[in-house]
Amino acid sequence: MSTVTERFGSMVFGDAVMQKRLPKETYRAMQRTIKNGKRLDLEVANVVANAMKNWAIEQGATHFTHWFQPMTGITAEKHDSFISPVGDGKVIMEFSGKELVKGESDASSFPSGGLRATFEARGYTAWDPTSYAFIKNNTLCIPTAFCSYGGEALDKKTPLLRSMERINKQVLRVLKLFGNADVTSVKTTVGAEQEYFLISRELFDRRKDLIYTGRTLFGAMAPKGQELDDHYFGSIKPRVAAFMSEVDEELWKLGVLAKTEHNEAAPAQHELAPIFTTTNIAADHNQLTMEVLRNVARKHDLVCLLHEKPFAGVNGSGKHNNWSISTDTGVNLLEPGETPYENAQFLLFLCAIMKAVDDYQDLLRISVASAGNDHRLGAHEAPPAIVSIFLGDELNEILHAIETETAYGGKEKELLRVGVHILPKFPKDTTDRNRTSPLAFTGNKFEFRMVGSGSSISDANVVMNTAVAEVLKGFADLLEQSDDFETALHNLIRDTIRAHKRILFNGNGYDEGWVTEAKARGLLNLPTTPDALSHFLDEKNIRLFSENKIFSETEMRSRYEIMQENYCKLINIEALTMVDMARKEILPAVSGYIKTLSETVVAMGQACAAADSSVECELIETLSKKNASAWEKIKTLENAITCARAINDHTEQAMYHKDNVIPAMNALRTVVDEMETLTAASAWPMPTYGDLLFGVQ
Ligand code: ADP
Ligand code: MG
Repeated sequence: MSTVTERFGSMVFGDAVMQKRLPKETYRAMQRTIKNGKRLDLEVANVVANAMKNWAIEQGATHFTHWFQPMTGITAEKHDSFISPVGDGKVIMEFSGKELVKGESDASSFPSGGLRATFEARGYTAWDPTSYAFIKNNTLCIPTAFCSYGGEALDKKTPLLRSMERINKQVLRVLKLFGNADVTSVKTTVGAEQEYFLISRELFDRRKDLIYTGRTLFGAMAPKGQELDDHYFGSIKPRVAAFMSEVDEELWKLGVLAKTEHNEAAPAQHELAPIFTTTNIAADHNQLTMEVLRNVARKHDLVCLLHEKPFAGVNGSGKHNNWSISTDTGVNLLEPGETPYENAQFLLFLCAIMKAVDDYQDLLRISVASAGNDHRLGAHEAPPAIVSIFLGDELNEILHAIETETAYGGKEKELLRVGVHILPKFPKDTTDRNRTSPLAFTGNKFEFRMVGSGSSISDANVVMNTAVAEVLKGFADLLEQSDDFETALHNLIRDTIRAHKRILFNGNGYDEGWVTEAKARGLLNLPTTPDALSHFLDEKNIRLFSENKIFSETEMRSRYEIMQENYCKLINIEALTMVDMARKEILPAVSGYIKTLSETVVAMGQACAAADSSVECELIETLSKKNASAWEKIKTLENAITCARAINDHTEQAMYHKDNVIPAMNALRTVVDEMETLTAASAWPMPTYGDLLFGVQ
């Protein structure tokens, strides 16, 4: 039996393997590529590819693939085997530097929002050497970016890598002003906590809504929900424990730093938290985590639901995107420091984040927008759709003292002068206990809790990185030109707090009053995806992305189309599934139950007179009425679906789905859920909430 430390990363072509298997010169060239993004020349790439192939074959691999993340939000692969014919019906195993570095891919089946004209259907994938290659299902996977031949990004990795470069550049400028000469690069770091539900596979297979859409489109609440708080951090059931331990094993082999597994607040809900790493790697690892969760669940006769809101009335699932900035010298720049200078630097970064989040609230909201997440934001332990920052009392008081130029501190109250005074230590614990904030400072990082459980974390981090880079650029421009650095710094921090303190909110985000207050503060409240998307192409957002070379305006327009289209497609599938289930399963089941009741009445030698109050007669009357009402509601929904389809413009179509299709879905659901509570369990055609939520022992 090998140890965990031996198994960890055993399926990864990581640093240790490279050091062992690559000639010294090649290894050094690789290091330069990884650290400074220096291009590998083909000769070196050939040597690396060959070593990679030999290693992969020893681990049982037969194929390789460029592993990429198109706009579908999930990963894509196209497998090629290593075999190459040598005549005589024989083959050898080959893998060239060219195949490693660049792949051709038919882009035509991936969403491109009109970017890829049909005559140019090819795209290419390009190796991201900073994210190590790994083996999964006997295939060597090479993490890559995916672009069109015109150079436009067709994926989620390209903009993320671009945004990391931008923030690196601007943070370095700022660090230089503070005299940090030894830092040569900074990277943003992310730890993405992943929430999910685990249900029995046998029950899952009996619900079309789960199969087609990943969430329940019908279902009355079970008598017991999460009100007792007896699941959160509760002891883990044996079947779930076995699943979790296999998930850990699989992830460790892939070099994913899976660290914590526990029960979440809702019944059947769980969480996996990794140790943080560089953002692009964290994004890759989160994709792998979702895949491993799904696959391992199947092996245990379970299904892992990654939908943001699989059950109405029960907590939804999200990802908590813990984000910070680290230097190559190992310093976390969001860690308040020990000296006045370190503290001033920390405060400047904090202010940059405040301003970035305030200026680009809409983009942050858009970065997490999806039809699924719309059900989650704003209810049941999910942060509201209004973006705000929670800093905690201590930091708030410090900022208040700076802003108002008033005294701060215990006995010896002093005017706080940035760059001169040491900030008081603030204990970490007091900062992270507000669970209702969308973006909470938790001692040395920001936790962004709006990300949906099923989506890629890339979009949110692209916005964080780019918006903060943009603000820091302005800060650096100003500070570099000042004659008196300390005064300029002090004023900049004070003025930024004054201008952007509206984004700070320490109260309860679920409170109705917050909606009113946020409005008075001029903060955006964008409850749905179409509402949010209507801001994507605002001039300031186009300027942000195009000036920072994340997306050209054309790329933004294409992404906008893709997002609107995805939203419409999803709602359309859900609506069709509802119609199908209601008509083919639910209404017939209720009719059947009415028949059973009628037979009972007859068997008892009775007949239902008007206003007959026997159990059977009352049920027959109520259910008949409700079934008839459900029938009408199906027709209304079908009609809405047809009208939605007739709209060509994606923006209009998305709005129509939101305003007409979703309300028609809700109306149908309401009456069906009422019928469920009145129908005998034996007559109901599918597993109930109770079965699903409490079915795994
Ligand atoms: P807890 O809230 O359970 O005490 P932590 O606050 O330590 O856990 O971490 C929560 C998540 O934040 C983990 O995934 C962790 O790796 C991540 N994290 C911790 N420090 C950083 C950092 N500097 N940058 C990004 N993520 C971080
Ligand atoms: Mg968390």
